Amino acid sequence: MEDPVSARVFDRVFICMKCNASIRANASQVRAGKIACRKCGYTGLRPKKRTRKGKTK
Ligand SMILES: [Zn+2]
Repeated sequence: MEDPVSARVFDRVFICMKCNASIRANASQVRAGKIACRKCGYTGLRPKKRTRKGKTK
């Protein structure tokens, strides 16, 4: 609970490239390799795609 701005929540959501689990973490820590997937421990995470307004494809 650091940031009450829910609009930016997707900026901190990452997807495990191994098992597709979603992990919420700071981008700086993910880049530094400090964040690992909770399920499989894989550190290869990609940022979740941002959606502009609502869920548009
Ligand atoms: Zn994983």
